[in-house]
Amino acid sequence: MDLSQLEADPAGDLDHDRWRHDEQGGSDRGALQLDHLSPEVARLVVARLVSKDFGAWTEALARVGNCVRPVRLRGTSERVDAATGEVLSSFSSADHPLGVVHVRCGDRRASECPSCSRLYAADMFHLIRAGVTGGKTVPETVADHPLLFATLTAPSFGRVHTSGRCHPGDSARRCPHGRPVHCGVVHAEGVEGPRSAGLLGQPLCADCYDYASHVVWQWFAPDLWRRFTIALHRSLAHHLGVPASGLAEVATVQYAKVAEFQRRGAVHFHALIRLDGPRTPGGISDPPEGVTAELLAGLVTEAASTVQLHVPGVDDADVPRRLVFGRQLDVRVVRSHRPDDDQALTAAQVAGYLAKYSTKSATDDVATTSAHLRRLQTTIADLDLRAQVASLSDSSSPYRLLGHWGRMLGFRGHFATKSRRYSVTLGQLRRARQRAQARIAASRATGTPLDLASLEADLLADEEETTLVVGRWCYLGSGWADDGETALPTAAAARAREYAQERARSRRR
Ligand SMILES: [Zn+2]
Ligand SMILES: [Zn+2]
Ligand SMILES: [Zn+2]
Repeated sequence: MDLSQLEADPAGDLDHDRWRHDEQGGSDRGALQLDHLSPEVARLVVARLVSKDFGAWTEALARVGNCVRPVRLRGTSERVDAATGEVLSSFSSADHPLGVVHVRCGDRRASECPSCSRLYAADMFHLIRAGVTGGKTVPETVADHPLLFATLTAPSFGRVHTSGRCHPGDSARRCPHGRPVHCGVVHAEGVEGPRSAGLLGQPLCADCYDYASHVVWQWFAPDLWRRFTIALHRSLAHHLGVPASGLAEVATVQYAKVAEFQRRGAVHFHALIRLDGPRTPGGISDPPEGVTAELLAGLVTEAASTVQLHVPGVDDADVPRRLVFGRQLDVRVVRSHRPDDDQALTAAQVAGYLAKYSTKSATDDVATTSAHLRRLQTTIADLDLRAQVASLSDSSSPYRLLGHWGRMLGFRGHFATKSRRYSVTLGQLRRARQRAQARIAASRATGTPLDLASLEADLLADEEETTLVVGRWCYLGSGWADDGETALPTAAAARAREYAQERARSRRR
């Protein structure tokens, strides 16, 4: 079947500027892979392909960029001149051949919607990169600010199989449960048995592994991070010779961070940490003299390795704990230009890395089929029950909602966060994209070329709108009509992804 008229998602790879058209040739309009479909779904696909409104449907599909679970709306919108009340244009779902309007689901998780998650990752990439190099309303002088890429991990809760040579040592030594405390092999993909890479992140002895402490640590990880930022704030103030309460008049620290699950099911944080000048109403100011990136790295290392949080046990039978970050702390300087020393990272490297991780969900990263992760989940259920019982007599238990976060292995933080002044916002990028689409449509309709030079600044400007959009919409549901309709955008998104990867490879060559 020829599906070449279906436009694949042109989002491209992360490094691609979405508002500029592809000058490098090539095509993302190849054939779609549909041969893995079940006979039933294949029948539905064919029915859709030969349907009378197929053209209208592919238009709807293109408009949501192959979103696999779009929101369906019915209603009308009117653009009204704010000053005169004149209706400039109107739009109704009833005018559309399908009788409904589809809107992207906007899910950031690749496991939920490949297309929307790629768009989210592209926006994250731009947001993060703008915070490193400037651009998109962020002043270019940020490129000269001290900037670090730090990874903060969880401490050890017991030995797990690791990559490289795994815990070499005396294979005769046993733990109290009679299991070896050393492994000594190099775990590899495609191997069965004790050398299997499937063992990576699994404990050498599940009975020695401190599951309760792992869960409690994860539960408080967002608080521990917050403590770390406070500690950094204090030590920076100390270094600059100002009281912590007066630091904002001299310097501020901005963050963009993502949380990622390690194989052992513990989150770690990757963060960009940037030093700015005093808080000003106008935005981002130059950092104080005398704080280099290396000095900031020293302060970050000190804050991360000394910060601690004392938390109560889940009930009287449990122990209070002192939570800290793991010793595997990695703090690297980021340069806005190509670094001479290969330990330093470039802006594009970190932005790409953070953007990629921001679209992952817990279940994408860690196979919840592993015995270790299942045991983490049963530990959560068990601790939750104990906390429920304990909260009957003391309702202030900080563990009350633990049971709701089993699927996230007890991590209740956000997977991608940034401080307010780090960069442009996702909302600004979304509004800019909507404006861009409106302009491209207008330029096609009227035949006037787009003025690319002024376009970006214009699109991102937070101008007062002189027109109002008045809409009356009702939500009909989400998703396409059936599995056949869903199969097409799924295949198209996969095709677009392959194309983007191929193009990224050819650019590197
Ligand atoms: Zn979607
Ligand atoms: Zn091992
Ligand atoms: Zn043991």
